[in-house]
Amino acid sequence: MSVAITFRGYDFHCHIDLHPNPPGLIARCEKEQIAVIAVTTTPLAFSQNLTWTKDSVYVHAAVGLHPELVGERYAEADMLERLIAGSRLVGEVGLDGSPQHRASYGKQKDVFARVLRAAQTHGGRVLTIHSRRAARDVIDLIEQHSDRNRVLCMLHWFSGSIAEARRASEFGCYFSVNAAMLRQDRGRALVRGLPRDRLLTETDSPFMTLNGRKASPVDSLNLMGELAETIALDEISTRNLIDANARHVLNFAGLL
Ligand SMILES: [Zn+2]
Repeated sequence: MSVAITFRGYDFHCHIDLHPNPPGLIARCEKEQIAVIAVTTTPLAFSQNLTWTKDSVYVHAAVGLHPELVGERYAEADMLERLIAGSRLVGEVGLDGSPQHRASYGKQKDVFARVLRAAQTHGGRVLTIHSRRAARDVIDLIEQHSDRNRVLCMLHWFSGSIAEARRASEFGCYFSVNAAMLRQDRGRALVRGLPRDRLLTETDSPFMTLNGRKASPVDSLNLMGELAETIALDEISTRNLIDANARHVLNFAGLL
């Protein structure tokens, strides 16, 4: 990839493989010049995602094990650790402290700590992290097992407190923000409280719904206006800010 590559949008947390036509969507992202981090929910799905994205300049596959699946797929954690040796991008990983996933919480913490240690060992890893109802534990584990010079953590669709977000930003964490967050008072207040140089954009599609339909990475193109309004910056400066932040992340992962 050349440094002079143009990006029109950034979707740093997207489940391309859960959309109906992944190769078609990847081609669309190429055409629209949208940089995408294509997360996976199980390590078994990674090789197919790598095959789909191998010739793509804009869409990059990440290897992950979704915390909601750790209970039933704990045995795949070994495979995940092995695959992190060969993948600069890691996700979706993290913790989910919702009541329905509480039973697996101990295993989730074990897997997430192993992921962080593997990323720390290999270095130059970028993680996209789920932290629903588990922000404090996620930040504690990041602090215990990684350092910002070797592992860049992006907290995706963060819903913890402003104080927790500040603490995470002190450890070097980035935050990928989506339209659903910007349409709620709480989400907007959180985004306003974050350091601007840590902001990124995402869609979490197809899980996020927008105006009654499933989102797609193409929706990231329309996020700048809402984000600019939220952080009280003009739209061109916001675009330049996100461009610089996103390039830092891609560069950290050796993708620029
Ligand atoms: Zn996700």
